[in-house]
Amino acid sequence: MKDESLHTIDILKTILDKYGYECLDWEPVVIQKTLNIDFQAAKINVYKALAAIALLQTDRFWSDWQTFHFLAQCLNNTVPSAGTIQELSVSQIMVAVDTANKLREELQDLSFVPVFSEEVSKFIASQALNQGVWFLPAPLDFASPYASKTMLVCNDCGNEEFFMDEEDEICPTCTSKYDLTSLSSASHNEDRLKLGFGKNTKVVTQYSTLQVQKTLQSLLEGRDINLDENNQDHICAAKLFTAIKYMTKRRREKLL
Ligand SMILES: [Zn+2]
Repeated sequence: MKDESLHTIDILKTILDKYGYECLDWEPVVIQKTLNIDFQAAKINVYKALAAIALLQTDRFWSDWQTFHFLAQCLNNTVPSAGTIQELSVSQIMVAVDTANKLREELQDLSFVPVFSEEVSKFIASQALNQGVWFLPAPLDFASPYASKTMLVCNDCGNEEFFMDEEDEICPTCTSKYDLTSLSSASHNEDRLKLGFGKNTKVVTQYSTLQVQKTLQSLLEGRDINLDENNQDHICAAKLFTAIKYMTKRRREKLL
């Protein structure tokens, strides 16, 4: 554990193999001392170990942007700073999300991968937009509507809200989806649906993603395309291509 480039998942496996699952309940200071004594662990690896344990203990990485911001730095081999906001690159965000989700997947039956909250999704989208990226492919696709500002707009009541790909195109306000009686199931009111309410909608994307998606696809397939440095879609796709390459490289660094 002296090698600073060790992957977070490998570090976690080493710890679980040696100390068993009860170490997940140890105080951070105990983990820190134990790793120092038993492994002479590098400082950043202690942070990665603590981050991995935090990712298993709570869902806050997926729900709270400050926790996300803090742990994402650890997962990218950076000693975190809680006080100041460090801008995270799209590459770093991809690595953080990929690692955290995989960490949960590794535990299989013992855990699950939470859904990212609107708060974290919006934080990721704002970081991406700062870098001139408004389309986000997997594993950041959940944040893409916030970056491209893709909204479901109701022509009848004027309601506007962010639109996720897998959702239906029915206005939740016109079908009383958020009324108290429907809230527990978060479903449209069947009677109102039958009467035809909620269907007069359109999906509006402020920043079109189609050309970025096409260009990125061509790059990923290794097709020979001429990237135009004055074309914003090409620049955005090139940034995403670099980010995906970086994430894939970090994934490969995993031993197991
Ligand atoms: Zn409506």
